[in-house]
Amino acid sequence: MRNILLKICLVSVLFIWFEPNLNAKDKKPKKPTKVVFLIGDGMGLAQITGAMAGYTGQNAFERFPVIGLSKTASADNYVTDSGAGATVFSIGKKTNNGAIGVDSLGKESMGLFERLKEQEWGTAVVVTSSITHATPAAFYAHVASRKSQEEIAEFMIRKNCDIAIGGGKKFFTQRKDKRNLFMELNEMGYTIAVDTNLIEIDAKRLIYTVADDEVKTMQAGRGDYLLRATQMAQKNLNKYFEKSFVMVEGSQIDWGGHENNFEYMKAELLDFNNVLNAVLDAAAKDGNTLVIVTADHETGGLCLLENKENKASFIPNYASKNHSGIMVPVFAYGPGAAEFSGIYENTAIYYKLLKLLNLHGNTKASK
Ligand code: MG
Ligand code: ZN
Repeated sequence: MRNILLKICLVSVLFIWFEPNLNAKDKKPKKPTKVVFLIGDGMGLAQITGAMAGYTGQNAFERFPVIGLSKTASADNYVTDSGAGATVFSIGKKTNNGAIGVDSLGKESMGLFERLKEQEWGTAVVVTSSITHATPAAFYAHVASRKSQEEIAEFMIRKNCDIAIGGGKKFFTQRKDKRNLFMELNEMGYTIAVDTNLIEIDAKRLIYTVADDEVKTMQAGRGDYLLRATQMAQKNLNKYFEKSFVMVEGSQIDWGGHENNFEYMKAELLDFNNVLNAVLDAAAKDGNTLVIVTADHETGGLCLLENKENKASFIPNYASKNHSGIMVPVFAYGPGAAEFSGIYENTAIYYKLLKLLNLHGNTKASK
């Protein structure tokens, strides 16, 4: 009797011991049903290090378990611009500087949002520039030049972007061709909102402009616009779609870099950090959200030099008023995050997303 009992005990112990392992083996890796893809335009390691130095709140970048590095060269220039730099995330091909959603031969290439819409994902862009600016434009438009913002606005009519929040009203309503795209889009089912204040609107398809062109800076009192806009986009997409992809851009981190204005950049990056913290909190609760944070390139060739007067601080020093060719970090959290570790070309980010989101593309990254 004692022997039998002992055997039963032993079997149970073995069962308990092995069961989790068997389960882990059988389980397929979880795939995300929500993606928040955040781009800090012009945000290199020096921008993050410098802006977060001495910050007493939570450093969101330190909450990511997976870090990678992205090589940012474009098809025609070792130093990319934001058009080519965001186009790679959308079409997976390196293109020429200034191009939006077209390959290096100028040919329209199927974009990430188009693939997502084919699979009934909800899509959004949330920015602190105009919604027709290079970075957001690369996700829904296909034009030879980022300068054609009126032409970029027309691509909204294809309905591949469900929600767009940012500036840029004039490219829809004060156009050379006299069309009022807001009226046209409204007739197609978009809710259109024009207000310098961001108020909560419940809509499946929404274009919300808070400025004629650029959104104001943090230093001019933008407040928590980017956080609220991000949360509104997420809330609406989650309500109306089973799967959602939100691209959020800290557009003006780059503009501070172009001005070699460290305080401008820092205020924009700290705002971006707040958004990251909120996105990570929501992702932790949800469990199905993949959060990716990266940059299209670094701006300003920023360097943090020794401050002989105060050795606990540093002197921000810029090498340029333009972008630089240094690798930029990629931070990942949530299901599929492990895919993003290592060093790779920026094009690889697109192919990793296709694979994780079951978008059935060619899985080979181009050089
Ligand atoms: Mg940008
Ligand atoms: Zn720039």
